[in-house]
Amino acid sequence: MAIARGYAATDASKPLTPFTFERREPNADDVVISIQYCGVCHSDIHQARNEWGNSHYPMVPGHEIVGTVTAVGSSVTKFKIGDHVGVGCFVDSCVGCAARDLDNEQYMPGLVQTYNDFEAAGKTPTYGGYSDSIVVKEGYVLSIPDNLPLDAAAPLLCAGITLYSPLRHWNAGPGMKVAILGMGGLGHMGVKLAHAMGADVTVLSQSLSKKEDGLRLGADHYYATSDAETFKALAGTFDLIICTVSAEIDWNAYLNLLKVNGSMVLVGVPEHSVPVHAFSLVPGRRSLAGSMIGSIKETQEMLDFCGEHNIVSEIEKINISEINEAYERVLKSDVRYRFVIDIASLKA
Ligand code: NAP
Ligand code: ZN
Repeated sequence: MAIARGYAATDASKPLTPFTFERREPNADDVVISIQYCGVCHSDIHQARNEWGNSHYPMVPGHEIVGTVTAVGSSVTKFKIGDHVGVGCFVDSCVGCAARDLDNEQYMPGLVQTYNDFEAAGKTPTYGGYSDSIVVKEGYVLSIPDNLPLDAAAPLLCAGITLYSPLRHWNAGPGMKVAILGMGGLGHMGVKLAHAMGADVTVLSQSLSKKEDGLRLGADHYYATSDAETFKALAGTFDLIICTVSAEIDWNAYLNLLKVNGSMVLVGVPEHSVPVHAFSLVPGRRSLAGSMIGSIKETQEMLDFCGEHNIVSEIEKINISEINEAYERVLKSDVRYRFVIDIASLKA
């Protein structure tokens, strides 16, 4: 067993603190990764604070992991020592399950999350990327394109794939009007990706304070949702709205911005349920849908797409000791646009 150092939540109401734990011995099909950077996702906050009611403690959050391979098991063929790799939101899935679907493994019941879960045997807790090393099965490790800076590529492993997957599924591309609701960690990646796919992109943000950034990152239009005029001006406009907001907002008001046959896809996950009126859907044959991350295959496709289009996240790099303050800033929408932990700061 190797000793790993990290930061953990020990309880829903306490700040994260330094934590030492053991990483399992690598098996023949495992890759050992020295973690260099880890993005800070809003889901880390939801789970560290038990807002989804499924938290196990101690919890080492972090599922936007990038680093360098330091060892590989004897049957590993895809990776070698020194490779730049990533690990996203899950580290195992329904192996041997009859319904196993490699194009949609994120929706399979046997999914094992990178943290706040238990590995295949159901006994060993999984600990995430707010730590200096991780041991992951080869099939759940991603290759990071050489031309992408490792620190700014980290958020692609969750924020990137979470927007790429629904944009692809709902065929974002030329001639399509796409709105990204919320210009945060997920939202700003949605702007970059939808723009690169050729869609006409609108940001719907609470205010116009990030308008200049939104337009620079690829948005064609930018509106404030605090202005009631926005909802009049944009009624019936969009083919696709991707909602990254985790607050309980009025989904009916946004559904009304869809064209006939338009879809609103939820990726943000509010703590409580939100009522939807049938009249928000029925008269326009509109759909309200959800989407969760993407498969390993699609995540690699997204990384390669980002490599081709030189897409990475806009980041603010922090030391791990600043994580609790960073959480507070994410909650105030005060991050431009993703915090990334420099894991070297764990060793300082
Ligand atoms: P984030 O950086 O905090 O971004 C969320 C954005 O929502 C904020 O930047 C803000 O944008 C907007 N917002 C915040 N409070 C709001 C309010 N009261 N009313 C309206 N808009 C508000 O968070 P994130 O990391 O992007 O994650 C967003 C959500 O997605 C979280 O619930 C997270 O758990 C979830 N998530 C889901 C998946 C998935 O697979 N489905 C994957 C990762 C994360 P403006 O300032 O522009 O208004
Ligand atoms: Zn995430």
